Amino acid sequence: MNGEVRGRGLFSGTPGAVRIAGAAVGSGIRIARRSGGGVRAKVVALAPQPEGIPARNTTLAIGATDRILTVEHLMSALAGLGVWDARVEAEGPEVPIGDGSAAAFVDAVRGAGLRKSGAEPIVISREIVIERGGARIVARPRSPGRGGCLYRYELDYGPDAPMAAQAAEWDSGAADAAETYAREVAPARTFCLESEARILQAAGLFKDLSPRDMLVIGADGPIENEYRFENEPARHKLLDLIGDLALAGGPLQGEVVATRAGHAMNHEMARALAALR
Ligand SMILES: [Zn+2]
Repeated sequence: MNGEVRGRGLFSGTPGAVRIAGAAVGSGIRIARRSGGGVRAKVVALAPQPEGIPARNTTLAIGATDRILTVEHLMSALAGLGVWDARVEAEGPEVPIGDGSAAAFVDAVRGAGLRKSGAEPIVISREIVIERGGARIVARPRSPGRGGCLYRYELDYGPDAPMAAQAAEWDSGAADAAETYAREVAPARTFCLESEARILQAAGLFKDLSPRDMLVIGADGPIENEYRFENEPARHKLLDLIGDLALAGGPLQGEVVATRAGHAMNHEMARALAALR
């Protein structure tokens, strides 16, 4: 069906689905249940992870007791294609992980016939710096006359890490921004280091997954797998950054540079950006 993505969630292992449809201009991105109840996908809806699931994803509260896990790749696809008004009907506790990238969501958004919408930008009017333990995100104004946002992610796990220092960027203000996002950002998959995978599996997570299903980086590179891009990890972190910052509630105008930042820090920046409005 057009607009639909179906499959298991990464953390819950539970089958689920999302169905993406258009919405009136100005209504924002809304995630809802078929049975009723829904929430605007914004920072105020951010919720803690359920017990036993490490804080490595983005979860939203739908009402007082209902939660939907791992919305970041879906949000990234919407923002990457410039879609700021949509209704997403979600089934199950978690958004499907698919191959770990945002490609399936790009297909679904396009399949639903949604196109770039003319949402009012959140203008980054002053520099905002969030910094902690070697990780950092800086948001700053863009040179006058330039629209959109330049997002940049810098990944550097140090000289002993199994992957080289690398970076990736995407400019939402470029004329071909949606095509560039779909081709160069969306296909980049979730990854984890072999040491992290062992810890997560010992905690009972990802039991049914093999390194072929998820990009696991060992000392010599991906285990039983291949990179889609030389800098696929940096591109995926960029994908996450775009999705998490979309929770500020609209397209950004400015520049954002993240270094080693993860979801928690992205959420903090999304809150600061939402407060600019
Ligand atoms: Zn991700």
